[in-house]
Amino acid sequence: MEVFQGCPFSHFANYGLQLKERKVFRLESPDIGDLFHAALKNIADSLRINGIDWRDLTEEQCDKLAAKAVEELAPRLQKEILLSSNRYHYIMHKLQKIISRASKILSDHAKASGFAPVGIELGFGKKGPLPPISFHLDNGSTMELVGRIDRVDKAESSKGVLLRVIDYKSSQKALNLTEVYYGLALQMLTYLDVIITHSKDWIGTTAKPAGVLYFHIHDPLIHSNKVLPEDKIEEEIFKRFKMKGLLLGDEESVRLMDQSLGTGYSQIVSAAIKKDGSFYSNSQVASEEELGYLRNHVRGVFKNTGNRITNGEIDIAPYKLKDKTPCTFCPFKSVCQFDQSLEENNYRVLPNESKEVILERIRNGGVKIHD
Ligand code: SF4
Repeated sequence: MEVFQGCPFSHFANYGLQLKERKVFRLESPDIGDLFHAALKNIADSLRINGIDWRDLTEEQCDKLAAKAVEELAPRLQKEILLSSNRYHYIMHKLQKIISRASKILSDHAKASGFAPVGIELGFGKKGPLPPISFHLDNGSTMELVGRIDRVDKAESSKGVLLRVIDYKSSQKALNLTEVYYGLALQMLTYLDVIITHSKDWIGTTAKPAGVLYFHIHDPLIHSNKVLPEDKIEEEIFKRFKMKGLLLGDEESVRLMDQSLGTGYSQIVSAAIKKDGSFYSNSQVASEEELGYLRNHVRGVFKNTGNRITNGEIDIAPYKLKDKTPCTFCPFKSVCQFDQSLEENNYRVLPNESKEVILERIRNGGVKIHD
């Protein structure tokens, strides 16, 4: 759906014509992303089987679990590429270090959090524990959304049960509401919609949305002009793992995500609390009502996309939002021959709006969701 909203032709080439790039024996970033996801799932499973809580993990255990996960997964990746040469053995060792570092930070986050995982790789759709989201399209057909959510966390608050979505990414990412508005970033709010809509059947109670967060899996390097003591380096590394996204603008909910937070900026989530309990303006927060409007808007975008796909729309019409276009990493450039130097080949230029403008627009055009 996001691909279609980026450029309908690219969606058609990929899912309609099913064009595929020639396979080459090379480690690509999707392979690394898959390895990270599978390794964190492997570690979470090991902890569950052995009755160990994320909070109680030691650094040594993180190293051992990461080594075990990579050892088990490496033979399944890209025709055993990680075992194919000394160079790839070295890369495998680096990837293992990244996974160990990420587990250590996840453990530190768990220590400071009132939220705990209730779903890992949680499927929705025919094969998952949660049902799909269904849409009736204009041509009479039914469209079902299916997928898998990396992690769902739950917390108890004075206002009821809260649920949040965590997505693991191998690159830095934040939720841009302009991209949500134009259907270019639907994933996270869809996940939130799925778990909140089905919370009563799934966890036995109607939950409130606490937000969506990206966790960046990496092993950052700290640059400094002077020699830093080890605890300072660890502190700087910890800061680099601050999770970005969109949170429920509720003091209790944010404090449950970072119980070490007094006033000022959280080191764990992208929010800052003032003395009076309100949020700094650069906090990535939205009210429960605004999150409802966003979920509703995302559903509207899905229906619109489903209708346009089934109507046969396959235009070569890439967007441009600031410097970003879908053409940069598109494998179908040689097929579509989109050439900006030709007068008839233009990008759909999307204006980058502030969060307030987007929320106002969605509020005016949206219908509130009733669970
Ligand atoms: S290169 Fe650009 S215009 Fe061509 S299919 Fe890909 S996204 Fe569309």
